[in-house]
Amino acid sequence: MFLLVTGGAGFIGSHLVRTALGRGHRVRVLDDLSAGRAERLPEGVELQVGDVSDGRTAAAAAVGTDAIVHLAARRAVPRSLDAPLDTDRANTHGSLSVLEAARHAGAARVVLASSSSVYGATAAFPTPETTAPLPRSPYAVSKLAGEHYARVYQELFGLSTLSLRLFNVYGPGQPADDAYAQLVPRFLAALGSGAAPVVHGDGTQSRDLVHVADVVEALLLAAERHEVTGVLNVGSGRSISVVDLLSLCHTVSGRSQGPQPASGPRRIGDVPRTCADTTKARELLGWSATTPLEEGLAATWSARPSPDL
Ligand code: NAD
Repeated sequence: MFLLVTGGAGFIGSHLVRTALGRGHRVRVLDDLSAGRAERLPEGVELQVGDVSDGRTAAAAAVGTDAIVHLAARRAVPRSLDAPLDTDRANTHGSLSVLEAARHAGAARVVLASSSSVYGATAAFPTPETTAPLPRSPYAVSKLAGEHYARVYQELFGLSTLSLRLFNVYGPGQPADDAYAQLVPRFLAALGSGAAPVVHGDGTQSRDLVHVADVVEALLLAAERHEVTGVLNVGSGRSISVVDLLSLCHTVSGRSQGPQPASGPRRIGDVPRTCADTTKARELLGWSATTPLEEGLAATWSARPSPDL
């Protein structure tokens, strides 16, 4: 399969690219390198540096490809509060631009990385895809808009599309050093450097954490299985509170004697809980997450000090 991976120089994208190449697929990456890094990409990948929301750039990148996995986005809820227009341009317009490029290039399949954030503060746990979305941040709105564009392009133009609602993805190489870093890299980096890990809010909020290797399997299956369309949850199906996660990070790092955690303000746009119902992904894609959290965290810890963490 000839795959275009937008955002392929990012955290999830670079794992996907490596696995896809290892399985004999041909891979092209389109990335503006705003968060991604060219050094993350292995030999044999064609990198086009450019903005996915630019129609001509996306169209050129899509030429000749069989499937597009669209990961390029301005990630993170807090970033979207600081820069909603930039988030919308890159994410909403970026998704439309990719769908339009696929339509004209004749690519048979588009897989979009959506997000569990589209559910907002739902009370349905585990959360099935039938739960009415209620986004609570510009980021979540932009992800839901991408899903709708994908559905409309399928209905109007016969493009085969699937949006995967990714829950909280973690694993080796996830940056800890940007202002919008996620929980796991922040905690592990703090423990590694002897700094106090910061817990926002009271720490009882809980997250469904899914290992990047499991997410890569879901993305590759999704790219191949054209008959599976619509939206699917991609999570572990389990939820862990932030304080329990910190304690597990202490265990896997062996740094239980470090400084006490510091309290940070509750983040606006944060939801109390996420937990995926993954029945549909299991039934339709034959996918479920297989990496136990403690094992995945230990492997992420051991991958330090990589230049990425
Ligand atoms: P990331 O920031 O590491 O990767 C995103 C990549 O997209 C980066 O390489 C960046 O340079 C590139 N990019 C951003 N804007 C672009 C633009 N306009 N044109 C071209 N490239 C652009 O993030 P990630 O964690 O690898 O996330 C990948 C995708 O998965 C994103 O769509 C994100 O919204 C989604 N997602 C991630 C998570 C998670 O927990 N990491 C959860 C839910 C959804």
